[in-house]
Amino acid sequence: MSDIRIHISNKTYVLAHDTAQFHHAIADLDFIVHPHQFVCLVGPSGCGKTTLLNMIAGLDQHYQGRIDMGQTDKVPSIGYVFQNPRLLPWLSVRQNIEVVFAHTPPTRLIDSLLDSMQLRDAQHQYPERLSLGMQRRVAIIRAFAINPDILLMDEPFVSLDAPTARQVRSLLYSLWLQRPHTVLFVTHDLREAIALADRLIFLSPSPMRVLSDIAVSIARDQRHEESRIELFREQLLQNHPEINGLL
Ligand code: ADP
Ligand code: MG
Repeated sequence: MSDIRIHISNKTYVLAHDTAQFHHAIADLDFIVHPHQFVCLVGPSGCGKTTLLNMIAGLDQHYQGRIDMGQTDKVPSIGYVFQNPRLLPWLSVRQNIEVVFAHTPPTRLIDSLLDSMQLRDAQHQYPERLSLGMQRRVAIIRAFAINPDILLMDEPFVSLDAPTARQVRSLLYSLWLQRPHTVLFVTHDLREAIALADRLIFLSPSPMRVLSDIAVSIARDQRHEESRIELFREQLLQNHPEINGLL
C-alpha cells in the first residue's frame, strides 16, 4: 500500500445545461494520505466532502486533477460506508454483508465482525426491524469484511443519539485498532474527529480546499478520556482562528 496523493484542480457541477449554471465545488485541493493513517475530513455542510469521497472511490470521474493511489500493478480495494446505510431490505443482516462477495463469503471473518459489532444475535433479522444504530453497524461490517486497503466513511454516525454514536464509534475504533486500514472519515463533529484521527484536515466552504492540516497528538490509549479530547479541542480552536466558525 502506498500514499494516496490527491490533487484536484477543479470540480464543477453543471446545474442546468440550458442556462449554463455551474457550481464550483472544489478548487486546488491537495493533500497526501499515508498508509494506515486515520484521517478525518472536517468541513461545513455542503462544502464538497461527499463529492471528494465519490471521486476517490472512482464513482465520479468528472473532474480535473489526479487521485494517485501509487500502485500500478494492483488497484487498491476500497470499502465505502455511505452516509445512509443503504441496506437491501429483502436481505437479512448476514446476507447484506455476504452480498459484497462474488465468491464464497468468509464465514469466520463475518462471524467475528458480527461479534465485534454486537450483531450476532440479529444476523437473521431484516433491515426494517433494526434501529438506525444497528443498520449503521451492518454497513460498517460490510465495508470491513472485504478487508479493503482504503476505507471511506461518510458521516457514518450522523443522526444517531449521542450515547449510541459513542457506542458505535468505540466499536469502530476497536475494529480499526485490530485492522488499521487507511481511513478517510468525514465528520463535522470536532470531538469525534479528535477522538478517532491521527490527522485532521479542515476544509473550506466551496470551492473546497484545505484550510488546515493538523496532527492529533493524543496517545491512542488516552483517547477515551473526554477531558483530553476537550483540552485538545480548546487549544485547537485558540491556535487556529481559521477554523472558528467553520463548524
Ligand atoms: P458535503 O458532503 O460536504 O455536504 P457535497 O459533496 O454533497 O457536500 O456537495 C457539495 C456541493 O455540490 C453542494 O453545494 C451540493 O449542492 C453540490 N452538489 C452535490 N452533488 C451534486 C450534483 N449531483 N449536482 C449538482 N450539484 C451537486
Ligand atoms: Mg455529505
